[in-house]
Amino acid sequence: MAELDLKQPAAATRVNLAGMTRGELRAVLAETFGLDEKKARMRATQLWRWIYHYGVTDFAGMTDIAKDMRAALAENFEIRRLALVERQVSNDGTRKYLMALSPGVEIECVFIPDVGRAGALCVSSQVGCTLNCTFCHTGTQALVRNLTAAEIVGQVMAVKDDLGEWPSGGDDRRLSNIVFMGMGEPLYNLENVAKAIDVISDGDGISISRRRTTVSTSGVVPQMQALGEATSAMLAISLHATNDPLRDELVPINRKYPIAELLNACRNYPGVGNARRITFEYVMLKGVNDSDAEARELVRLLKGVPAKINLIPWNPWPGAPYECSSWERIEAFADIVNRAGYASPIRTPRGRDIAAACGQLKSDSVKKRASEARREAAGA
Ligand code: SAH
Ligand code: SF4
Repeated sequence: MAELDLKQPAAATRVNLAGMTRGELRAVLAETFGLDEKKARMRATQLWRWIYHYGVTDFAGMTDIAKDMRAALAENFEIRRLALVERQVSNDGTRKYLMALSPGVEIECVFIPDVGRAGALCVSSQVGCTLNCTFCHTGTQALVRNLTAAEIVGQVMAVKDDLGEWPSGGDDRRLSNIVFMGMGEPLYNLENVAKAIDVISDGDGISISRRRTTVSTSGVVPQMQALGEATSAMLAISLHATNDPLRDELVPINRKYPIAELLNACRNYPGVGNARRITFEYVMLKGVNDSDAEARELVRLLKGVPAKINLIPWNPWPGAPYECSSWERIEAFADIVNRAGYASPIRTPRGRDIAAACGQLKSDSVKKRASEARREAAGA
């Protein structure tokens, strides 16, 4: 992708407050200004509103803070956004953003209008992914590091800038839901994902509730209970197969945590019930997992689990060894699932023209590194 700097990050000499939790904000204020606990809490509450409700990036705009204090804040801190490297808008309104965490380390996130109440933002939790699901583009990307909580929140803040959605809140907002379905396996970065959800869901700030936040996992069974306890987020499971041999192949983590264990963890997910169902994602791969028999098996398997089923037409990427099931096949599969009582389960592919659809996300971090290395080797 072309590198176009829409926003330059400021020099990183001052401490960045954007993305901090309340506790972190209190601590850094107490330490910098020698405040006692009560004063630090008051100051943090004040700043919280400006940063997460009003979305200001300049201390000068914090009109209820004394002028000399504003100056002192600006001397020590900054409120910095992630660097937006590129933004693409699909003809269906989907927006894909490429953001730089540091030079050459990039992630993508995607805003999808008309999902949920108004629109969902699909955020990344890692650069790349350590798992290798065979149908997923992100899985082919080698460079991996966990995002910090601030970098996860940073995606939301940058997109709110782009949508012009400050101050936060209001019934007409476009960004109403968050899905952790971008790059990476969120349950391998649970601590930061949980911290980010704390910030994003806080009612005095961005205020996107935990019920409108969905975390998707390939099935990291030992972390599922902890996810529910720490976040109260909605859960989505990337199931994609109804028997272990096939799931072992498509979603290799299944070799560690097979389907029966995964479904058991789902039944025990904190807060699960008919009002809080688990979404099962099922990618439609031609001739691989899309037969009528498998549709019936899917229904049988999910008996007793409060479930929603989401059939995802597979999104192609260069060099992938699969094809998407035909539309007739997907509809026949969906019919069987529908007749079992699951409503309209097909997920319309969004933003395919800009490679922003599920599983097409892959930043150029690795490639860039390689080309940089070559340039350096060539003495350029
Ligand atoms: N790692 C997590 C979350 C990110 S993937 C997980 O696997 O759940 C988000 C969703 O996109 C998952 O359901 C994943 O299986 C699906 N997906 C991956 N590649 C895809 C592709 N090429 N087409 C359609 N869906 C895909
Ligand atoms: Fe990773 Fe999810 Fe892609 Fe699997 S589907 S490789 S877990 S991002």
